[in-house]
Amino acid sequence: MQQPIMTIEAGACPAPVPLPDCAEREWTRIAIARLQDDGRRSADTHLLKPLFRGLKGISVYLKDESTHPTGSLKHRLGRSLFLYGICNGKIRQNTTLVEASSGSTAVSEAYFAQLLGLRFIAVMPHSTSRQKIEAIQSFGGECHFVDRANDVYDVAIRIARETGGHYLDQFTNAERATDWRGNNNIAESIFHQMEGEEFPIPEWLVMSAGTGGTSATLGRYIRYKNLETRLCVVDVENSAFYDAWRTGDLQVTASGSRIEGIGRPRVEPSFVPGVIDHMIRVPDAASIAAAHVLSERLFRQIGGSTGTNFFGLCWIAANMMKAGRQGSIVTLICDGGHRYTETFYNPDWLRENGIDIDPYRRMLDRFLDHGEFLPPV
Ligand SMILES: *Cc1c(COP(=O)(O)O)cnc(C)c1O
Repeated sequence: MQQPIMTIEAGACPAPVPLPDCAEREWTRIAIARLQDDGRRSADTHLLKPLFRGLKGISVYLKDESTHPTGSLKHRLGRSLFLYGICNGKIRQNTTLVEASSGSTAVSEAYFAQLLGLRFIAVMPHSTSRQKIEAIQSFGGECHFVDRANDVYDVAIRIARETGGHYLDQFTNAERATDWRGNNNIAESIFHQMEGEEFPIPEWLVMSAGTGGTSATLGRYIRYKNLETRLCVVDVENSAFYDAWRTGDLQVTASGSRIEGIGRPRVEPSFVPGVIDHMIRVPDAASIAAAHVLSERLFRQIGGSTGTNFFGLCWIAANMMKAGRQGSIVTLICDGGHRYTETFYNPDWLRENGIDIDPYRRMLDRFLDHGEFLPPV
């Protein structure tokens, strides 16, 4: 509701009138307070340090983002996108919220929408895991499905228009809704938790890309803080990011990833190639094998994208060892494995998708126990 504008002209000062009461601002204040309360109730996430006999001179750290109230690193993004939308005046009392998602973000956003009493509609591919759909619904969110991963954007925009709602648009806003200089972002938390370690400044950070927002925050932060740490982004099969980074062509497209949460059919606006020092592309069989191997060694299941991260970390570790370098490497546990019992942890699904993880499992076990990084056989 726009208030009438009053102009004050020289020499004609009008008599005082009642100022607008801006009742809408009261909802904004309560909403921001609710989000701050959620932040206060949350502790920082653990930085795990598993030991692997074969990795001499290399310290491995895993930032465990699976322990957030909504089960993934998207809890941070969800909170940031809500703050961003409210502070920009886009999210108000009774605003319907719409998002395009492969699932994790929608789970976190449904949680925050419920916290604020707002309607939330997630647009997702049919392939989204049952557990994520159930989580969204348990927070009162509505799910709208599309056949092709590439259709989520247009359908979300259309639903937002039809409902007079707000498209949260994680793929555009992830990189800008997060305070990259600090303010307790994930990079600041990692470097703070590393302070007392043997190698406190990591040689490498390793991270996969979904929106690209987390890698953008990490890459910007290490530059801003003038650190020697380098950033390796790991991509997956059928994703546009790797080719875009290698060729500089941001228009490349791909068919869409099987590793939920990462790998995109297009180069998302939140993907910031300029802050990435190195990229590798990991086969899906290697990502899933790495998820299995790491789950066994942590005594709990982790998600597929964490497998991609861990395979990338092993590859970096192998190269450091070969070069005779010592140091630390940090990556993320993005979410837990309970969301993927019907896919990555289901032998039938693996067989139907023609994915044989055993050669990569043997390869990783040999590396972690004996330090030999040999091609899969
Ligand atoms: C979103 C997501 C990622 C990637 O994080 P971005 O910051 O979006 O690049 C990795 N794993 C999972 C499970 C995710 O949901």
